[in-house]
Parts: sequence; C-alpha cells; structure tokens
Amino acid sequence: MTFEDARALDAADSLAPTRARFTLPDGPVYLDGNSLGALPAVAPARLSDAVERQWGAQLIGSWNSEGWIDAPARVAGKIAPLLGAAADQLLVADSTSVNLFKLAVAGLRLSGRPELLTETGNFPTDLHIAEGAVAAVPGARLRAVGPGKIQAAIGPETAVLLLTHVHYRTGAKRDMAALTARAHAAGALVLWDLSHSAGAVPLALDAWDVDLAVGCGYKFLNGGPGAPAFLYAARRHHERLETPLPGWFGHTEPFAFDDAYRPAPGVARFACGTPPILSLLALEAGVETFADVDLPALWAKSRALWDLFAAELARRCPELEIITPADPDARGSQLSVRHPEAWPLCQALIAAGVVGDFRAPDVLRFGITPLYTRHADIWTAVDRLADILATERWRDPRFQAHAKVT
Ligand SMILES: *Cc1c(COP(=O)(O)O)cnc(C)c1O
Repeated sequence: MTFEDARALDAADSLAPTRARFTLPDGPVYLDGNSLGALPAVAPARLSDAVERQWGAQLIGSWNSEGWIDAPARVAGKIAPLLGAAADQLLVADSTSVNLFKLAVAGLRLSGRPELLTETGNFPTDLHIAEGAVAAVPGARLRAVGPGKIQAAIGPETAVLLLTHVHYRTGAKRDMAALTARAHAAGALVLWDLSHSAGAVPLALDAWDVDLAVGCGYKFLNGGPGAPAFLYAARRHHERLETPLPGWFGHTEPFAFDDAYRPAPGVARFACGTPPILSLLALEAGVETFADVDLPALWAKSRALWDLFAAELARRCPELEIITPADPDARGSQLSVRHPEAWPLCQALIAAGVVGDFRAPDVLRFGITPLYTRHADIWTAVDRLADILATERWRDPRFQAHAKVT
C-alpha cells in the first residue's frame, strides 16, 4: 500500500469527521490514546467556564445550580451505552485502583468463599490491590495462576474471579461472556477490569451477566490525565454489597450529617469522598466524543486499521514480532510488537514524530483510537519504523536514556 492509498481510505471513511472532535497537534502521529486519550475540542472552554464562572463567580452555589452534585451519576449515564449496561449500575468515582479495592472486598464479603482468583502478569495494580483486598477480609486468600490456567483454577473455593478483559501489554482479549458463565457455573462472582476495553471494543455487561467491573477514564474515554474511573455492579447484588470505604458521599443522606453510616441505595454507596468536579467535567467532555457514533462501525474501523498495520509491518518490518492476536475476537484496539531493543526503538520513533509507548521488558505498543486515528497515520508509523530499523538509528545513545514515565 502507498501513502496515497491510505489517504484514499481516509477519504472514504465515514468516521473521519469525528477527528474534529479533538484538538491534536499538527505534527506527530499519536498512537498512544490507549494510555492517555487526546484532548476533546470542547474541554478547554468547558473547564475554563467551570473554573472562572462556576467556581470563581458562583462559588459554592454551583454544587446545586450547575449540577456538580449529580456529575458522578450523570457522567456514568453517558458511559453506560459504551459498556452495554443500564445506567443505574454504574458510578464514576475515584481511580481504577481504588474501585478495584472496593469491589474486590465487597465481592469477597458477598460470596463468603475464601479465594480471590486472578492471573499472573495482570496489570500490576490489579495484583497489588488484590493482595490488599484479601488482607482486608478475614479468611480470604489470593491465588494468582498463569493466564492459561484460569479456567481449570475456578472451583468451589473461588469467591471472585478478577480478570482484565484486554491485556495491557499484549492486547489479547478474553472471552468475557464465556468466562463469566464458567465462574457462575462454579458459584463464583466475576470482577472485570475494563481499562483497555471501555470505548475500544464491543461490550455487553448486562447481556453477559457480569457481576462487577471497573475501568479507566483517561484511556479510550479521553477523560484527561488522572481522570476519575468508573465502577459497575449488577443490580441483583446492589442491596447486599458493602463498600469497605464507607465515606460520607456514599451515605444515603450525606447532608443529614449523621453519626451512623447508612448506605445509599444501589451503586451510589460506592462513592467515598467529595467528587473531583473539574476532572469529572473533563471526563464528561471525553465521553461525549462518542456521542452519536455507531459503535459497530467504530469497532470495524479499529479492525481495519489493525489489519492495515499488521500487513504493512509484515511487509516492511518483518523482524518485529507481532504479539497481539490476529483474530479480531481475541484482541483489543492496540497492536504490540516485541523487539529486544524496544526501548530505544520507541524513543527513536517518538523523535521521528510517531508516539507509541514502551512496556517492559521488550514491547512496543500502539493504541488504535478510531475516533481520531487515520489510515494515513498507521502508514506513516510503519514507514518511520521501517526507516529507523533499516538505518539502525535507534542505536544513537540519546535514545538510551530512561524517563520516569514510559
Ligand atoms: C491503566 C490501568 C489501570 C489504571 O489504574 P489507575 O488506578 O487509574 O492508575 C488499572 N488496571 C488496568 C488493567 C489498566 O490498564
């Protein structure tokens, strides 16, 4: 394929106009929207209004007059269609890590069984939080098995199966419906981490009978750095789930200033403290970038971009090993390759105007965000990568220096 061919695909792309919903820099090709989504075009004006008028001029009155108090549920309602979930089962609050803790403990207590089952090689916070969750529940223990051993490990001791739907490093996607059914058949609950799924791949939490889920606001949902996260709890569990962090915002009547904690009905009890309004409004702008988008068409475009990426890599960079599954049913919206010098390669690529990221120890990762990624971007990324590999420009010592954030 030539650059002109890729441009022709963009010209025929029915989703091409959604790129205008973002403010992107002119130069670089951005393939890291799975780590930090791009800036929604309306976000700066929304945030400056929130700061100057709502906070600056109206001060505390904005909690009521601007609906700040309802923002967590309102934004959750806008995320719900992306998850295939009825809105009253979703809440926007805290970080993914904190939500994982709340739901893992709640799930362990609800089940009464001892074992929190997860996989080794999961995103580190999931494993660390899992350790913290079992430490908080008397009698509970953590069992982490290799990714291929999950099915066989689900058994009569399993309280909660905690898994990530799309793996952050490889992009491999699990069969959520089948694993949920398998856990239920054994009498266990599921807790899915949707950080690399929400806004990226088709989801049907209600139809798949998921019990609990969490996910990230700043990746495919475009909510901005450190955006609040979301949590999902199926309605059938609502009245029996207890949060281990019973803050005043999860109280049924926070402004009754009661000594005694009485949980709010439903998922609202999983709110803890005062919500971060500025961040919530940025997240709302991020989620609104999906407004009126045909989700099957979005996923079809992700697949087409992935196929183009893989075909061009095979043709021009055969030394790179693609570790993301080729089967679209088994992958998320990213493409990862393995190379022993992935770190300097990634730095050389960024210097050449293509932003992907590095994941230890040897993975170069590219996010595909079809709301704003173009076919021409994929073509350019492979073109620059092929050039860097051919010239061995990554050997330049300036590409060896490590930064704090990769
Ligand atoms: C990105 C990501 C997180 C992020 O957690 P934070 O609490 O927002 O830092 C958690 N889990 C997975 C699987 C992720 O990919």
